[in-house]
Amino acid sequence: MRGISSPLNSGHQFNPEPTPALAYIIGVETGDGFLNQKRRGYQYRIRLRAVDIEFVEAFNQAVAEVLQCRPHRLWKGKKSRETEVEFGSYLLHKFLSQPLQSLTAFIEHCRRCAAAFLRGFFDSEGSIDVSGRALTASNTDIDLLRYVQYLLTVYFGIETTGPRLGTKKGSILTRRGRSYVRKADCYYIYVRRTCVGHFFSEIGLTIQRKTARFEKSIGSWVSVENGKRGEWDSNPRVLTDKGLAILRPTRLGDPRS
Ligand SMILES: [Zn+2]
Repeated sequence: MRGISSPLNSGHQFNPEPTPALAYIIGVETGDGFLNQKRRGYQYRIRLRAVDIEFVEAFNQAVAEVLQCRPHRLWKGKKSRETEVEFGSYLLHKFLSQPLQSLTAFIEHCRRCAAAFLRGFFDSEGSIDVSGRALTASNTDIDLLRYVQYLLTVYFGIETTGPRLGTKKGSILTRRGRSYVRKADCYYIYVRRTCVGHFFSEIGLTIQRKTARFEKSIGSWVSVENGKRGEWDSNPRVLTDKGLAILRPTRLGDPRS
């Protein structure tokens, strides 16, 4: 696929190059709730709707970078708790609609791309319990979860357990503040408790209410201005009004201890 003029002249151009921003988009897109919102007339839309605004904003920045356009305006419905962003790009939509096997070269391009993919995936599919130590990700696609486990182990030495069958088909799923009836069985993977610290230092989550649970569990973390505006950083809290901010532990211990 090349970034030539699109057959339907639909929206922004796209030339697929392996970058962390594109890997992040792929990670978010593999979420169960993503591309299946195909309303009439919206076929070539790249869209994210979620409760956590910093997640939508991170996605907005990543798509804008990949499409080489300005970030788009975020929308919030009157009654909805969710924020939404939407881009039109026939080529990027086509690219993201490919099976994951065709996208692995973009995901595994380098360690930063792998981290960005995993972060997108966990932003979309991850959850952390109130203890801040039980980090899980769920999906209906067991092979996708196995691939995520493979990336965590091989690139970052992060151990997981599962996939285990979690909630069964037909039960109600709440994701991004919205409820769905599950159309397929859902599986979970669990990041080993001893590796959760390592996960946050290597990959991190954009979603602050989830990151906050982890921070609380380990005590004092500080937010540090990174200063490298516009450059992708795989640490937690990518976006602030002032540019990029990252989190660094004040005590550097063995993340596995
Ligand atoms: Zn890369």
